[in-house]
Amino acid sequence: MSEATVVGSGPNGLVAAAVLARAGVTVTVLEAGDEIGGGTRTIEALVPGLRIDHCSAVHPMAIGSTALRDLDLERHGLRWRLPEIDCAHPLDGGGAGLLHRSVEETAAGLGADGALWRALFGGPSRHYDEFSADIMGPLLRVPGHPLRIARFGAPTVLPAEVLARAFRTEQGRALFLGTAAHAFRPLNRPLSSAIGMGILTAGHRHGWGVAEGGSGAIPAALAAVLAEHGGRIETGVHVRSWRELPPSDVTLWDVGPDQLPALLGELLPARVARSYRRFRYGPAAFKVDYAVQDGIPWSAAGARRAGTVHVAGPAAETAHVEREVHAGRMPERPFVLVGQQSLADPTRAVGDVHPVYAYAHVPHGYTGDATEAVTAQIERFAPGFRDRIVATTSTDPAAFSGNPNFVGGNILTGAKDLRQLVFGPRTTLQPYDTGAAGHYLCSAATPPGPGAHGMCGAHAAARALARLAR
Ligand SMILES: Cc1cc2nc3c(=O)[nH]c(=O)nc-3n(C[C@H](O)[C@H](O)[C@H](O)COP(=O)(O)OP(=O)(O)OC[C@H]3O[C@@H](n4cnc5c(N)ncnc54)[C@H](O)[C@@H]3O)c2cc1C
Repeated sequence: MSEATVVGSGPNGLVAAAVLARAGVTVTVLEAGDEIGGGTRTIEALVPGLRIDHCSAVHPMAIGSTALRDLDLERHGLRWRLPEIDCAHPLDGGGAGLLHRSVEETAAGLGADGALWRALFGGPSRHYDEFSADIMGPLLRVPGHPLRIARFGAPTVLPAEVLARAFRTEQGRALFLGTAAHAFRPLNRPLSSAIGMGILTAGHRHGWGVAEGGSGAIPAALAAVLAEHGGRIETGVHVRSWRELPPSDVTLWDVGPDQLPALLGELLPARVARSYRRFRYGPAAFKVDYAVQDGIPWSAAGARRAGTVHVAGPAAETAHVEREVHAGRMPERPFVLVGQQSLADPTRAVGDVHPVYAYAHVPHGYTGDATEAVTAQIERFAPGFRDRIVATTSTDPAAFSGNPNFVGGNILTGAKDLRQLVFGPRTTLQPYDTGAAGHYLCSAATPPGPGAHGMCGAHAAARALARLAR
């Protein structure tokens, strides 16, 4: 029987491990942390019984992920819960752009921008499940649905700020640009629309759902599949060299590519090692978790029903602060993403106290304290918020860097600049191969990139299985 080692137990490592184990491979997962899950852990904090998502919270790309669906995680307790409104982008003065699951309902709420929203997302979201395989993997390959991908892909090439100019209402422009900002890159660059378009299209198909009980339900279900097929996990093992690994036919690395030159040493071809050393990490997140009595009193009624709220004001302000952060300057009023998971999943509230999850985009390696800036941004659109706060805890970029894949607090496992967005960790048609025989990279640095969808792990596992079959 073949043996595999997977280093790292983020969603990609665990999906890779589960896929290999299900194919009959004997799998061992080694994880540096004390708990499995990497960027998908849920921990109890602030108030007894209150569970907060340490990293990932909202999962438009994971619900429709073929990698997760194929593993039938519902059998092991994973249940998706959807909010009434997927996302709100409140504006000063009380209005808001509202993203509903339905394209029609969203378009109806956007008035003069309804037709544009329909044109951008109507067709692509109806056919998302057909062409998602083309975007949820390496981009440089022959697409299975060339016409559909051309229809979806054409606008994504544009800088988000250029596409945003086609909107006539501030609601439409801000809603679009706020989602494009998930890419953590200046919104005036080519392809800066791509990640936002992907999230919006997938969201219109599957919703911006949360895992019942917290994102930790995702790794828990993956670990159950792995155990079912005889795989095992060791935590508290920080791997520093391939020489420390148990004998394996294949090894999958759920790590940042910059770790691989040291981990694989002489096994790695010199040109690949050079590429991995050049791998860049982008801006960071500064997160504040709150326990809030009765939830957030948003001025915009729609935001009180939305699972995710983009707190950034008008589109021009979002564009400006994203450029500032990228240039290494901390804005006074940063882009803040707020998660209200208890709206979709009432099991998350403890009595009247709700967990509120919020993170600001801050410069790479930012060492200041952005807690007050995050609170002030929420208060700006929800007067009275401060009075409802029961407890808070902050996580700065240095604390996120405790996960070696989030260098400088960059939660996307790499900057999404043009080269890394198109090619992944190095310029190659096989982004999961490291060039060292039997060693594969499976982290979110590989296509299709960040998120708890596990697709990077599934693609890398397919490469490993192909080798084992030879
Ligand atoms: C604040 C924040 C908010 C986010 N929000 C969302 C969201 O709402 N929705 C979403 O889909 N995604 C979100 N993400 C991104 C998502 O969490 C990541 O893209 C995803 O977890 C990446 O999965 P992964 O398996 O590639 O790596 P990770 O989840 O980073 O896991 C890698 C694991 O490998 C371990 N490891 C690394 N090196 C070694 C080594 N040498 N030896 C042993 N173990 C090692 C690490 O300890 C870690 O446990 C967020 C992330 C953060 C931090």
